[in-house]
Amino acid sequence: MTSPVPFRAVVDSLPAYVPGARGADPDAHKLSSNENPFPPLASVRAAVERAASELHRYPDMFATALGEALAARHGVDPSGIVASTGSVAVLGHVLQAFCDAGDEVVHAWRSFEAYPILVQLQGAVSVRVPVTADGRHDLDAMAAAISPRTRVVLLCTPNNPTGPALTHTEVLSFLDRVPPTVLVVLDEAYVEFVRQDDPLRSGAVLAAYPNVVVLRTFSKAYGLAALRVGYAVTSPDIARGIRTASTPFGVNHLAQVGALASLDAEDELLERVDAVVAERTRVLAGLRAQGWTVPESQGNFVWLETGARTTEIAVEAAAAGVLVRPFAGEGIRITIGTPEADDRVLELAAGWL
Ligand SMILES: *Cc1c(COP(=O)(O)O)cnc(C)c1O
Repeated sequence: MTSPVPFRAVVDSLPAYVPGARGADPDAHKLSSNENPFPPLASVRAAVERAASELHRYPDMFATALGEALAARHGVDPSGIVASTGSVAVLGHVLQAFCDAGDEVVHAWRSFEAYPILVQLQGAVSVRVPVTADGRHDLDAMAAAISPRTRVVLLCTPNNPTGPALTHTEVLSFLDRVPPTVLVVLDEAYVEFVRQDDPLRSGAVLAAYPNVVVLRTFSKAYGLAALRVGYAVTSPDIARGIRTASTPFGVNHLAQVGALASLDAEDELLERVDAVVAERTRVLAGLRAQGWTVPESQGNFVWLETGARTTEIAVEAAAAGVLVRPFAGEGIRITIGTPEADDRVLELAAGWL
């Protein structure tokens, strides 16, 4: 099909973002989008239901209450927080604020599939630095890839879809090699699931490096994927540019209320995160015992290198009631789910070897 009005060339050249599969079978285990397996907390749900009585009003454009609550927990000034329609939208605003046509954005690959799409839509050039054999960012190669055209470097930690997280020491030594006029984005969508030594302490990084933006989301650990709310933490000076590029009223009223209620219920939500982490440990051990080589996942998902058989395996898994996220020719990403779903994954994976 051809559009009657021609698209910009880049639009024709881009792959569409592939959402995780949504099967027709309501009983299928949906392990394709790194969602939280737990339904909303009753307190969060009640707050959102109450907020529905105000649907005829525009939301608070600057999500003031949410920004203040987030600023308090990150120990920054509220002017250093920019919330928007999921952290993917925030990243889009970051690129709009910093990248002109032809500017370069360095990021790992394979990493989050939204990166090259957002970068190229902005007219910038996506410079992809291959991850190592164990799915880690190759920070030496990324530092070497920075050129005079580089405006932004994206670090995805833990890396979606391969799993490993960067350490604090690694990030600091990387930042010391980045010119202060290049922005470094730390995409911490899965930070709550990290359980490794020397974890990245992004608050300390922000305090020491004024060219850093941290991205966080309510979609994963907080289980609010449907509400679409994510945010940047950075210096007020950098935040100003991101805010200028932001979609007006990008965080809707229900999302603001749901996010605030989730912060109030944080202890309960973090217990759920612990349960997912325990399952991750069990699944990783189970897969390795079967003989799989699996990168060290610090997120709520695992990565299996299934190579040429990837598509076939994903189809087979769907037929067996488990929806996974295939990356054709490379591997499949499987979200950690309920113990029942994870048992099913282990059962199936044994047959894929
Ligand atoms: C899921 C995810 C996000 C968050 O997306 P939202 O737009 O906040 O739902 C951001 N970065 C990575 C790497 C992710 O996997």
